[in-house]
Amino acid sequence: MTSEDEVALFWLPIMLSYIAGDTVLPPQLGLASVEYDAITSRARVLRQTLDKKHLSERRQLRQQLLLMRQKEYRELKALLIEHANPESGFAEQAASVIACGCLGNRHLWKDLGLPERPRLSRMFAWYFPQLFNANDRNMRWKRFLYKQLCDHGGDYVCRAPSCNECSTYQECFGSEER
Ligand code: SF4
Repeated sequence: MTSEDEVALFWLPIMLSYIAGDTVLPPQLGLASVEYDAITSRARVLRQTLDKKHLSERRQLRQQLLLMRQKEYRELKALLIEHANPESGFAEQAASVIACGCLGNRHLWKDLGLPERPRLSRMFAWYFPQLFNANDRNMRWKRFLYKQLCDHGGDYVCRAPSCNECSTYQECFGSEER
């Protein structure tokens, strides 16, 4: 996949949803300036519109939330970067926005502003293929990431020794299409 394909498939929908106020992403999509510039230089017509949106009160609140949950954000981002596809153009950016998106309350694909869950699965398949392959039970993506952190000593979602005896099984394996 070329960088242009990545932008068209993943980043344009995210940017358009950000402009429409339908993501949980903080200012600059949650990206460092250099990461943000690399993405938006591929979508010049949107750049000015995007830049006007960063100061909205809602996005400033998302920024504050991000600061309050820095440890969790950093752990999620580190997990993703550890599994990044070196052949992809924007895996670091994908790690940043996905880690930010995990701090929202809806399904991850919705909070990122993607049009449907399969698009998020394609994002994982391209940017983080090892994680994509590891999710062979088709867990909800956000829960899958937190489970990875739990498996490595984190204390986020798992309150049972195994999924089969867990009272919140549906929250991890239920459909997240809607
Ligand atoms: S079903 Fe329970 S044990 Fe399995 S990942 Fe979800 S929270 Fe953890």
